[in-house]
Amino acid sequence: MGGIKWVEREDGEKEPIYVSNWHDKEIEQYREEHKKKVCDSEAERIVKKIARHFKLGRYQINFHGYKDSGRIWGRGYGGTVTLSHNPSFALICHELCHSLCYKRYKKHISHGSKKFEYQLQRLINYCRKKNFWQDEINRLREPKPQKLEPTKEEIKQQKIAKAEAKIKRYETKIKMYQRKLSKARRSVAMLKRVATKKEVATF
Ligand SMILES: [Zn+2]
Repeated sequence: MGGIKWVEREDGEKEPIYVSNWHDKEIEQYREEHKKKVCDSEAERIVKKIARHFKLGRYQINFHGYKDSGRIWGRGYGGTVTLSHNPSFALICHELCHSLCYKRYKKHISHGSKKFEYQLQRLINYCRKKNFWQDEINRLREPKPQKLEPTKEEIKQQKIAKAEAKIKRYETKIKMYQRKLSKARRSVAMLKRVATKKEVATF
């Protein structure tokens, strides 16, 4: 199933492209999810999150090309997924949907079938519910605060603090050894006293 669709190029000319009906429908239905793109490392996180939630297992994730297309090898318990660079949420869900279908129905489910659509909707709903991990992604995209070089005065203060900490550690150790020393002296004294008493007693 499929057909020719005329799309306008950037220069205004129209060109025919071949589209399958299910693909067309998916783009139409999940317009927002096709527009929401993430970088490769973010995509890896999202695949892992979705896979964990739907108990799909572990995935080896590869990236290839830029056409928002992908492939998956896996039967519902992990596998290998290839996504294009900077994939959309729609693509991530579509590829994982193959695994989810396999896990759910224990056989291959074709694109565009009711069963496929149903499972895809589940995946999309989950992403929507999580608000596409927008907070986490924003946090990841924030530039890291630059560490300021310490001033000369700060370096001096750090050195003093370090040396003072050392002194404190040594003082604690001295106290500990002084306690041990007097304990040892006491026990020697006691042992000697006991020995003299015994000598006295035997005579
Ligand atoms: Zn597919």
